[in-house]
Amino acid sequence: MSGTLFIVAAPSGAGKTSLVKALIERERDIALSVSYTSRPPRPAEVDGVHYHFVSRGVFELMIERGEFFEHAVVHGDLKGTARAPVMQALAAGRDVLLEIDWQGARQVRAQVQDSVSIFILPPSRQELERRLRARASDSEAVIRRRLDDSRNDMAHAHEFDYLVINDRFEDALAEMRAVVAAQRLKSANQLKRHAVLMGDLLKDA
Ligand code: GDP
Ligand code: ADP
Ligand code: 5GP
Repeated sequence: MSGTLFIVAAPSGAGKTSLVKALIERERDIALSVSYTSRPPRPAEVDGVHYHFVSRGVFELMIERGEFFEHAVVHGDLKGTARAPVMQALAAGRDVLLEIDWQGARQVRAQVQDSVSIFILPPSRQELERRLRARASDSEAVIRRRLDDSRNDMAHAHEFDYLVINDRFEDALAEMRAVVAAQRLKSANQLKRHAVLMGDLLKDA
């Protein structure tokens, strides 16, 4: 049995991390993949929880060893998803969510045809900038870099299966949950999940 691979991407500051955290709290049977990065941790970030924080040297060694499912340079930092934990969870029938950028999403789609991808957009450029500043965890230079990159990031929105606009947080969260529910309700997935029930319903009287 194989679970569904969900991909969530967004320009920095659109609310991806907050939305994913809230989604995972409500949909407990989705496993959130913890990425590797060469970026230094923000004050509130914990190694092994928000990211596996590693040096560039260690990251490059992992690339050489083919340990990544996908990896990319994002805002100047190396980011990647290790292959083994994702494959193990999917093989065990668990749904897995990857919070990655559009470059990683492309690499994943090429390997997993029936993955489901969601792109999150801010309601306006001004609000994106306001949220990046409100988070108060990055330097001015990092914020400028992310704002500069955001146009290019958003130009890839059409490559995703679903677009969610994060204006009102609770509405955006409900829309993400609707995507998860629709995927799980597909007859192919329901027939696998409810094989015993189907056998029972279809047996001769
Ligand atoms: P955020 O934008 O506030 O979430 O800041 P981060 O520094 O945590 O992430 C910056 C970018 O890196 C985001 O666009 C993420 O989607 C992307 N990212 C995070 N983890 C991965 C990963 O494992 N692979 C790839 N390709 N991108 C990632
Ligand atoms: P990302 O992971 O996409 O970079 P975050 O989840 O860190 O974004 O969100 C950026 C900031 O915007 C955070 O301070 C978060 O609390 C805030 N935020 C997220 N969604 C909304 C929303 N719908 N309305 C207002 N603020 C939001
Ligand atoms: P953080 O500020 O640490 O990114 O988010 C903390 C939690 O606050 C998130 O898990 C999310 O559920 C919630 N949250 C973040 N932004 C908003 C918002 O704009 N509106 C609401 N209702 N909840 C939010």
